[in-house]
Amino acid sequence: MMTQNIRQILQRQREFFSGGATRDIAFRKKQLILLEKIIRKNEQRIMQALFEDLRKPEFESYAAEIGILYPEIRTAAKNIHAWAKPRRVSTPVLHFLASSYVYQEPYGVTLIIGPWNYPFQLTIAPLIAAMSAGNCAILKPSELSPATSGVIAHLISEHFDPAYIAVFEGGVDETKSLLEEKFDYIFFTGGTAVGKVIMNAAARHLTPVTLELGGKSPTIVHRDAHLEYAAKRIAWGKYFNAGQTCLAPDYLLVHREIKERFINIFKKTIISFYGDDPSKSPDYARIINDRHFSRISALMKSGTIIHGGQTDPGTRYIAPTVLDNVRLEDPIMKEEIFGPLFPVISYENIEEALNIINAMPRPLALYLFTNDTKIETLVLRNTSFGGGCINDTVSHVGSTNLPFGGIGDSGMGLYHGKAGFDTFSHQRSVLKRSNLIDMKLRYPPYGKRVNLLKKLFRIIG
Ligand code: NAD
Repeated sequence: MMTQNIRQILQRQREFFSGGATRDIAFRKKQLILLEKIIRKNEQRIMQALFEDLRKPEFESYAAEIGILYPEIRTAAKNIHAWAKPRRVSTPVLHFLASSYVYQEPYGVTLIIGPWNYPFQLTIAPLIAAMSAGNCAILKPSELSPATSGVIAHLISEHFDPAYIAVFEGGVDETKSLLEEKFDYIFFTGGTAVGKVIMNAAARHLTPVTLELGGKSPTIVHRDAHLEYAAKRIAWGKYFNAGQTCLAPDYLLVHREIKERFINIFKKTIISFYGDDPSKSPDYARIINDRHFSRISALMKSGTIIHGGQTDPGTRYIAPTVLDNVRLEDPIMKEEIFGPLFPVISYENIEEALNIINAMPRPLALYLFTNDTKIETLVLRNTSFGGGCINDTVSHVGSTNLPFGGIGDSGMGLYHGKAGFDTFSHQRSVLKRSNLIDMKLRYPPYGKRVNLLKKLFRIIG
């Protein structure tokens, strides 16, 4: 039944795409403006669903799931015309009397698979990019955030023709059924292990993919850092959404000389954010489900708890926690934490910190706190990561001018702003030859013309 539905919708989307409606820039703009209107009108409903799924604080829901989408929509609507314009590029002299153009071609029918941690933003932001580039889309929101998934399905089906944008709800089986079919592009946000499953499935149809995955994002606090600011900015990025952020600082690398001082300030910062009992704070989210609750709770056995550590299985509450005496061999350092636990590791010199980072898979983000530009250059030159911040955490995700994506195990491909438009567009190159004359040089019989060719290439370098 599911397969039949998918095939029907796919067929309708193919026909809609071939009909050419999405190639019209005015159509794309109109649909993006409609999407913005729908979101604006339903802000409360979306936030309510996020509260049901994750007990997400209103501020966090608005900032990271709703507000963040408006600049994406507006930037796209304002710039699609310029982005989509065929670009004339110069033509090598060898192609004398020709002109060259790069056309931005929409892929066609795309599949967007979303995760549960920012279930609204991470399903809709790729959709904005797909729409701006002129594609049709099928969305598969995460089944682990069912309230938000339901709202997405409802809002999209109420306002968009499924021949243009459709939603399929469901879990692994439904995703597998979708992946059986041939799409023209797949955009996946989720864990590294499932990312491999997606890429494998895409390979069967040679479908290009963007994989927005996770990883262990290191956070370095060097000895010269502004410790008060660093503590606030790290605690905010770490405990936002109770640590269930792909970009969250995963573990702390702190210079030995300032470790004790920094930890004291960090603990006070947590209390100033969430009070003495964070379970009573309206500003602190809950863990998505029992499986993740047990997984994160088990990771607390690594090292020594020096702050927090309280849990409540009934409400899936895990306090903002700091762990000291953590060893690199401990389970907490072997997987992405994706929860409110912060392991602390100290280093003597920056090279030691770099060795720790470089011994692990390339992370989605890296955060460095220092006022020393030499340290900054050294760290940037000697590490590889998706994106990051100096003297802040997470904030780079909120700029439409900064392409967002991972590298290595943290993913491939970029989006946000123009990067999203580019991701969902094929760059089609076209060389247009003049009919004024026809150069014989290239046609057989070649005779000894290879010598002339050699000279020519020597001249044009
Ligand atoms: P997940 O990989 O478990 O699930 C993501 C999606 O894949 C869901 O829609 C799910 O239904 C589907 N899925 C799960 N198992 C599948 C299977 N075997 N076959 C086919 N489809 C399957 O990820 P998650 O738990 O929802 O999210 C957490 C992970 O996502 C973390 O690792 C996090 O770092 C990462 N993440 C990355 C970003 C980013 O932008 N790079 C953003 C958010 C989350």
